[in-house]
This record gives sequence, C-alpha cells and structure tokens, in this order.
Amino acid sequence: MNSTPAPRSEPTDILIIGGGPAGLYAAFYAALRGLSVRLLEARPELGGQLAALYPDRMVYDVPAAPAMYAGEIVERLVRQLEPFDIDIRLKTVAQTLEADGAGWRVGTAGASYTAGAVILTAGMGALLPRPANSEQALTDWPPAAVAASRSAWIQGGVPQATRAALELADAGTRVTLSHRRALFRGTPSQLARLERLRQQGQIDVHAPAAADFTPVPPADLNIHLNGYLPDLSPLLPWPLEWQGEYVPADANGLTTLPGVYVAGDLSSAGGTFKLITLAFAQAALCANHAAHHVRPELRVKPGHSSDRRTTPEGRFV
Ligand SMILES: Cc1cc2nc3c(=O)[nH]c(=O)nc-3n(C[C@H](O)[C@H](O)[C@H](O)COP(=O)(O)OP(=O)(O)OC[C@H]3O[C@@H](n4cnc5c(N)ncnc54)[C@H](O)[C@@H]3O)c2cc1C
Repeated sequence: MNSTPAPRSEPTDILIIGGGPAGLYAAFYAALRGLSVRLLEARPELGGQLAALYPDRMVYDVPAAPAMYAGEIVERLVRQLEPFDIDIRLKTVAQTLEADGAGWRVGTAGASYTAGAVILTAGMGALLPRPANSEQALTDWPPAAVAASRSAWIQGGVPQATRAALELADAGTRVTLSHRRALFRGTPSQLARLERLRQQGQIDVHAPAAADFTPVPPADLNIHLNGYLPDLSPLLPWPLEWQGEYVPADANGLTTLPGVYVAGDLSSAGGTFKLITLAFAQAALCANHAAHHVRPELRVKPGHSSDRRTTPEGRFV
C-alpha cells in the first residue's frame, strides 16, 4: 500500500467508497487488473462491521477459513492489498457524487476525487461512534491528547475499549477501565492480558460500575467508547435509486448510473442476505466490470490468478 498518497487532484481509474470486506476485496481485484485505485473510509481503521462491531467474534462461514476471528479476516484482507499501490484515505466520509466528464467526482469535507468508475461498498453506512454523554467520544485512535496524558479513564465494554486500555497501559499510561456491566469484549488473549494487568495493578478495572462512578484522582484523559451507529445519510441525496436501505444493481453490480457499481450489504443483489461471502463475490463482479468500463481494451473476465506470476517481492508481473 502507498504510504505517501497520490496528490488529491490526481484522478484514479476506480474510486471505492467504504473499506469493509466488499471494499477491500474490490480494491484487490481492481488493482490485480492493473487499475489505479483509491478507497475512502469514514472510520480511522479498515474492516467495516468486522472491525467496528465484532473483531473479537469467531466467524465460521468464510470459505477456506474454517474458524477465524473477524479481526483476523480484516488483517488478511489488508495483507492481500500489500503488493499494490492503493491510495487509502481513512477518516474520510464521501459526501457528494456528481458526473465529471466520462467519469465521476466524489466530494468529501476537504477534497474531491475523480475516477472513471465508482464502486459503492458503504454497507449499512458510515460506522461512526455512537454519541456519548461524557467528555470525549473516541473518533480517532490514538486520540491526539494521548501523548500528553499520564492517566486515562476509558468507559465502555466494546472491543475497542479493551484494546484502548491495553495499548495505553503498554504506553505507560495509568489506566482506569469502567463499564456498567461486568463484561468486557475482546479476543481471549486480550481478555487474558487485561486480567493479568488488572492483577498486577497496571489497569484499574471497575465493572459493574455505578452510574456515578468517577476515578479518584481524576484522569487527565476521559474516553467514552459506546459502540458505533451506521449512518447512510451522506449517500441518500446522491442521484441513485434506493430500495429501502439498498441500492439496486443488475447482475454485474451496475447501478442505474453508468460507471457506478455497488457491492456488499448496500447492494440489493443479495436480497436481505448480509454475508461476507456475498460481499466478496459481488465485489469481484463489480471490479471486473468496472475494469472493462474504464478501459474497454480490458476484457471483463479476469482469467485465473493462478496463471499470474509474482516477483520475489510478491508484486504481480
Ligand atoms: C455482529 C455481526 C456479526 C456478523 N457475523 C457474520 C458472520 O459470521 N458471517 C458473515 O458472513 N457475515 C456476518 N455479518 C455480516 C457481515 O459483517 C456483513 O455482511 C459485511 O460486513 C458486509 O460488508 P460490506 O463491506 O458490504 O459493509 P461494511 O462491513 O458495513 O463496511 C462498509 C464500510 O463503509 C464505510 N462507509 C459507509 N459510508 C461511507 C461514506 N459515506 N464514506 C466513507 N466510508 C463509508 C463504513 O464506515 C464501513 O467501514 C455479521 C454482522 C454483524 C453486525
């Protein structure tokens, strides 16, 4: 992946909206076809629902992965992008879509990006932090204030709360972790470490915590992690057709707009099925049809990847 992203004005062949399994796999396939790819993701990390909602849960129905944590599926999807220079923009919400010559222009709060084709993989919507009543909801990790804080109070039982507590403790911050229920989520190894650090007195755990609980002495940094709420509202005014929360697509993933494709949970193609496997299959179809759309000399069918060769560094030739 590209650590020094392309200048904003540089158009790409493909622009992908959403970095869940559908978006990550569409990015892989479009890059495998030799296309330039940019991906916009609202959250500070990739992985969509798998990373935001259930990184700690075991998934059993992804092909060739008999049992794998959702977080590990994300890690593997991201690893599959490593041979390519994909311009990934995190914390970037796609807000507008308009025609731009033969292609499309997508606007964000601070920039606009043009591409020959757009693949919508926005799932249930942007997975943004649920508003919290306390001082600071975590929209960014690590928060800018972390570097300066010697003590932190993390409230919440979601997997991100456990992860934040462990990472801050590792960085030498004195951590108080509280939740109104006596239950924290995380992978077994994270939960075992949390218990170890609690026993060693490195993390002060309060659960179940009374509603009026506050740490004494007060922490420098208060972080409230309340889970995530999907937000489709930025996409609703776009010149797309909608069927409830789904965008209709033909068998190739094409929406009613030429050069705009849809895959994954957002697509009507799977009916009400919401499955990672379907997201992968639809993403592969979209990426290959989009490849032919932006470069008519490319055939729709990709051929077999097993016919491809890589350099010793793992780059495709
Ligand atoms: C608790 C739970 C357990 C599940 N277990 C399984 C399972 O065992 N097996 C299975 O197959 N499926 C499971 N699923 C369903 C599976 O997670 C979804 O089908 C899958 O995540 C869909 O992938 P996607 O890429 O279409 O969308 P998502 O995963 O929702 O990703 C969409 C991404 O787009 C981003 N986005 C949205 N709007 C914008 C915007 N305007 N700008 C920029 N970014 C945007 C979002 O922030 C998000 O990261 C489960 C779902 C849940 C909630």
